[in-house]
Amino acid sequence: MKFGAVAFLVLAGVNNAGAFVGSSKKAFGRSSSSVLSEKIAEELDLPCEDECALDCFPNMPPSVHPGVVTGQAQVDLLNHAKENGYAIPAVNCVSSSGINACLEAARKNDAPIIIQFSSGGSQFYGGKGLDNKNYRAAIAGAVSGAFHVRTMAEQYGVPVILHTDHCAKKLLPWVDGLIAASERYYEQHGEPLFSSHMIDLSEEPLEENLEICADYLARMSKIGMLLEMELGITGGEEDGVNNEDVPEEDLYSKPEEIYEVYKTLHPVSPMYTIAAAFGNVHGVYSPGNVRLEPDILDRGQDYISDKLGSDAPQDKKPVKFVFHGGSGSSTED
Ligand SMILES: [Zn+2]
Repeated sequence: MKFGAVAFLVLAGVNNAGAFVGSSKKAFGRSSSSVLSEKIAEELDLPCEDECALDCFPNMPPSVHPGVVTGQAQVDLLNHAKENGYAIPAVNCVSSSGINACLEAARKNDAPIIIQFSSGGSQFYGGKGLDNKNYRAAIAGAVSGAFHVRTMAEQYGVPVILHTDHCAKKLLPWVDGLIAASERYYEQHGEPLFSSHMIDLSEEPLEENLEICADYLARMSKIGMLLEMELGITGGEEDGVNNEDVPEEDLYSKPEEIYEVYKTLHPVSPMYTIAAAFGNVHGVYSPGNVRLEPDILDRGQDYISDKLGSDAPQDKKPVKFVFHGGSGSSTED
């Protein structure tokens, strides 16, 4: 659980609202004419009667509606966060009651939220007694959780990005199963089941990391999904992955590496975010134990903008970043 610690912070936008080349607006997410027919609340005959009945969430771009947001609506929401300087918290959930608590918190704060499942959390959601051969329990658990989120996000009336957390190379069959579920969902509903997935190949050589991520990005962006890739290593321990003893230099990404990600992924699709390492560590740490270097992210943006020259976006922030882990910062920081 990482509430308050993991922030899906958008530092820089994908300056391409028309990012989904070759696709009509209808192809991704809801269009206003079909919004009611696609709501689970309508199927249940339990439509919301207050703000959650709105097609558009207050003070948000018009595409951002209550319920799970995907495709262009998701990009619009992330860009809105970047432009207005706020972060969207991502909470790892392992139960329906935990999801409901997140939705209630979002409702009380009139705020969007990211709800996500780890591989272990997905398996737990399905029940630890279920056979997890080929990650089938983790796939079924995450899909079950996704339908719970989709149903209840509409009842609570808040925009939700439905995401999954770290997926190392050996866990790729888990995400494969989830993308397949999204592809089937897309056939019926014109949008993916999940908003996005994270693929964490930071333990592999950069070239392999990028090659595999580019393949996934091509597949996912076709149905309006966003890919979060990890560059460098988040320290600490989470979901059985222990990085407590990695060399300190591996906790800090280099601008050249961030540029490599841009060069490889951007031509495929702008539907990606980068979890770059800037000293962040998973877990709860008291101030003084973690040395954060957020300037690394800024330098990465500058580096890419310099390389792009006149092609650089106006805000000089060509990529989006995701923050993982606890800050270890005091309130004075
Ligand atoms: Zn993480």
